[in-house]
Amino acid sequence: MSEEGTGGPLPVVAVVGRPNVGKSTLVNRILGRRAAVVQDVPGVTRDRISYEALWNGRRFTVTDTGGWDPKAEGLGASITRQAEFAMRTADVIVLVVDSQVGATDTDLAAARILRRSDRPVIVVANKVDDERSESNAAELWSLGLGEPQPVSALHGRGSGDLLDLVLDALPEAPREQPEEGGPRRVALVGRPNVGKSSLLNRLAKEERSVVDSVAGTTVDPVDSIITLGGEEWRFVDTAGLRRKVNTASGTEYYASLRTEAAIQAAEVAVVLLAADEVISEQDQRVITQVIEAGRALVIAFNKWDTLDEDRHAQLEREIERDLARVKWASRVNISAATGRGVGRLPEHLRAALASWETRVPTAELNAYVRQLVQETPPPARGGRAPKIKYVTQADVRPPRFVVFSTGFLEAGYRRFLERKLRERWGFGGTPIDISVKVRE
Ligand code: GDP
Ligand code: GDP
Repeated sequence: MSEEGTGGPLPVVAVVGRPNVGKSTLVNRILGRRAAVVQDVPGVTRDRISYEALWNGRRFTVTDTGGWDPKAEGLGASITRQAEFAMRTADVIVLVVDSQVGATDTDLAAARILRRSDRPVIVVANKVDDERSESNAAELWSLGLGEPQPVSALHGRGSGDLLDLVLDALPEAPREQPEEGGPRRVALVGRPNVGKSSLLNRLAKEERSVVDSVAGTTVDPVDSIITLGGEEWRFVDTAGLRRKVNTASGTEYYASLRTEAAIQAAEVAVVLLAADEVISEQDQRVITQVIEAGRALVIAFNKWDTLDEDRHAQLEREIERDLARVKWASRVNISAATGRGVGRLPEHLRAALASWETRVPTAELNAYVRQLVQETPPPARGGRAPKIKYVTQADVRPPRFVVFSTGFLEAGYRRFLERKLRERWGFGGTPIDISVKVRE
């Protein structure tokens, strides 16, 4: 824990805003040359990138949310997603606006959402490159988020003052995970019609338990508490499932926001797939969301009652081909309709959560990795092979490892390390994260 850069979770500063307002430039400005740790979950498309930053002796994480592709879902939706995500995960939110353009409809929409945030929001009026342009910044009072901070991310003007403000707004400790010690929190997710509602009803019926509604503390979720396998579980954000509100507003986009919210609120996610249909892009996206959120993962193949031998064989091939990246996920075959396999769900949840919380002793970890590196050293790049000096597990839930190395480790080698760590410690049901810190 005393190892620099690995003392548990850091407070998070999320940078949000439209494309081209200067988010990346600002993030680089904040980092200076100190970009130390780049989070990298192998096998996952990267649309959020977090960096570790240092200012006036304080360390924090900067998340650049700018990678969401507005083309994929429309600009407005993309910004909404950024803002909602930031509100759920960040300790301080920085909204970047292009002061040369002024507040656009999209900026106003983002501001409207962020005004509901219980986290501090700082408006950056970017591209104030000289004193003359400062009046542009003042116009951004119209966003209703307090005093806009004039900054030139490109030239550095005002960035020191901004960072001071960010530090002032940062809490001493990162935002708390909701209620420790209560029932474990489970998200039941999957694309429409895979059987989420049916499963929830089945679970409630099967155990003949009372299903309670619990008023959530966050924006709107209402959870269900269900006793399974002699233990209470909190199924988060299930109000919609129970009421089954599949109205016109239930577009894929809103469904995906809701999914993201449930995943964020949960510790473990059950991703439901329909065994009678091919594994689709949409299924893959939900799985990716769980991995990127760093939650434990159970994949449940529902509608198992419908399977004949042909489809079964075909499904196994699909799994082999399409779910290779999540071989580590817990898998359970169920039928919400007949109840088959449903009783095995709690043991899968428990196993995945146990992996998610595994902490490997440092000495054991280093002895193992030393041996690995001896047998299979990292490949040389540009003539010199990087040397791995030290490995530590910086965090749990999920397990995160930091490898201190004299040079960059290629993705292929990091995947090799992940595979080997899994061979040794299992980690079934949890994503693990390996980042590299380069030290000469
Ligand atoms: P992002 O899409 O929000 O990440 O924006 P980028 O950081 O890629 O910046 C978009 C464009 O704005 C680039 O051409 C930058 O060089 C430019 N830019 C960023 N910050 C400033 C600034 O402070 N002043 C000026 N004049 N241009 C800037
Ligand atoms: P949701 O949109 O994910 O909540 O899915 P629903 O629970 O509404 O289920 C969608 C459809 O699949 C409904 O017609 C269900 O009756 C059906 N269904 C759900 N689970 C099963 C199952 O295990 N077997 C079969 N045969 N049908 C199922």
